Amino acid sequence: MEAMGGVSVDEKEDDSFRWMFTNNGVFSVKSCYDLFKSSLSGPPLDSKKVLALSFLWNCKVPSKILVFGWRFIHNRLATKDQLVRRGVLVEGSESLCSMCKEKEEDILHLFFKCDSSCSIWRRVYMWLDLANYLSFEDFEDFFINYDKLPVNKRMMVAIIWLATAWSIWSKRNAVIFRKESFNFTECMSEIIHNSWRWFSSFQKKKNVCNFYLWNIRPLDCSES
Ligand SMILES: [Zn+2]
Repeated sequence: MEAMGGVSVDEKEDDSFRWMFTNNGVFSVKSCYDLFKSSLSGPPLDSKKVLALSFLWNCKVPSKILVFGWRFIHNRLATKDQLVRRGVLVEGSESLCSMCKEKEEDILHLFFKCDSSCSIWRRVYMWLDLANYLSFEDFEDFFINYDKLPVNKRMMVAIIWLATAWSIWSKRNAVIFRKESFNFTECMSEIIHNSWRWFSSFQKKKNVCNFYLWNIRPLDCSES
């Protein structure tokens, strides 16, 4: 109650949510970026990571996906190895990968080494037909290697890359919290659908790419 002292309440006005980090109370990606930047500690970022982050913040995806990407690049997702480090889980059976239950769950294993997620990245790589520009290993580390792609393809691949990482993370959470099992087909279909939705909704021209074309050859869809 003490903390409420000096706060005046307008009974005529309805309750509403306010974003604390802008003057007008409305969420903005920039304010979120500034907030994360100010919370960073430790050694300065290397120049490749700085470029990766500035490319990320220009990606045309919903803000929650930008925040997820930021946490991914900084290895700040709540993977089990991180939870062990914070004393939330005990090392051993509690820290095993949620999908394969064989290796310790860290970001590298969960997203790239685990059989389930690796099969997803390989299918996405084939779907994008990127072999002329990027090796599969380059693609896994796409935000470090995005400048190897032609300028007009970068945003599309970035959106699909983020949709892939996001789907793997969502499926991993569904395994833990909803006791679901990992389903390859469902995960692929979520990636294709989400990436198409995000790509289309940020295009200035409407109907720039129909779902049928996106499903077959997404990189033939042009950006506007
Ligand atoms: Zn695993």
